[in-house]
Amino acid sequence: ATPTALMVGTGRGAQLGILIKGPEVLEQTRRVDTVLLDKTGTVTEGRMAVVGVAAVGATEAELLRHAGAAESGSEHPIARAVVTHAATATGPLPAVDTVTGRAGLGVVARLTSGPLVVVGQPALLEAEGLSVPAAVLAAHDAARAAGHTAVVAGWDGEARGVLAVADTVKVTSADAVRALRELGLRPVLLTGDHEVTARAVAAAVGIDEVIAGVRPEEKVAVVQRLQAEGQRVAMVGDGVNDAAALAQSDLGIAMGTGTDAAIQASDLTLVRGDLRVAADAIRLARATLGTIR
Ligand code: ADP
Ligand code: MG
Repeated sequence: ATPTALMVGTGRGAQLGILIKGPEVLEQTRRVDTVLLDKTGTVTEGRMAVVGVAAVGATEAELLRHAGAAESGSEHPIARAVVTHAATATGPLPAVDTVTGRAGLGVVARLTSGPLVVVGQPALLEAEGLSVPAAVLAAHDAARAAGHTAVVAGWDGEARGVLAVADTVKVTSADAVRALRELGLRPVLLTGDHEVTARAVAAAVGIDEVIAGVRPEEKVAVVQRLQAEGQRVAMVGDGVNDAAALAQSDLGIAMGTGTDAAIQASDLTLVRGDLRVAADAIRLARATLGTIR
């Protein structure tokens, strides 16, 4: 393509709400055939709310106060939902000395009053040496079957309850998936969340391929595997934990509403965080440079 065509494409992109890192990005954009879509914050609003609480080895207030305190040191959308709910239901939360975020798993926090609190997936609690009683696992599985993200909280050696957290699918996501398909692209939902929850979201937006239970450091390997199969991969994401996969993909697309890490790792940024604009970007690149057959 001529430099002039590239400049025109870049300028048109800005009008559509697409920030393009450089004119050469249009070439990668028109070639992609598979689009990996991060779930939380990309296909969904990423604004989660607690929709259910099941206390097993503690009172509901104790469960909320421990979990809320531990999550107050985390920026994750799940953590924000837990903190808001716990503080609303029980008042100011206990102080925390140290918090360690465990990407894709949860958090481990030491409360000033003493206990070590673990909040997240059952595997994280087990890795921290807590036992997960059958009644807690049952509550966890029930939340998941309802399409919610299930978060387990425990301290003093034992998991003591489950918080069910739910997110809403963006109203534009189903249209975006349809537009990507019309361009001949293959949409795939990629998430660290559990398969059952992921399938519920995928069904709501018209995606049939789901890669779930993927740890942040494994997202890169998923991109590499598809590339090894000969796919030209676009990845759309918003989180710190998406950055490496965005950088590895043939075309990294960040939600403008997402983290700086995701934006910096990407070739394109969708300024308003509207997934439909990802399809606009690909259509624009093809119109500017011609469709590859
Ligand atoms: P996604 O890939 O959908 O954006 P993440 O990789 O951020 O999701 O998180 C994957 C899973 O790890 C979550 O569904 C949750 O079970 C657990 N998790 C991550 N962070 C937290 C947290 N701060 N509190 C509780 N659970 C968490
Ligand atoms: Mg995300």
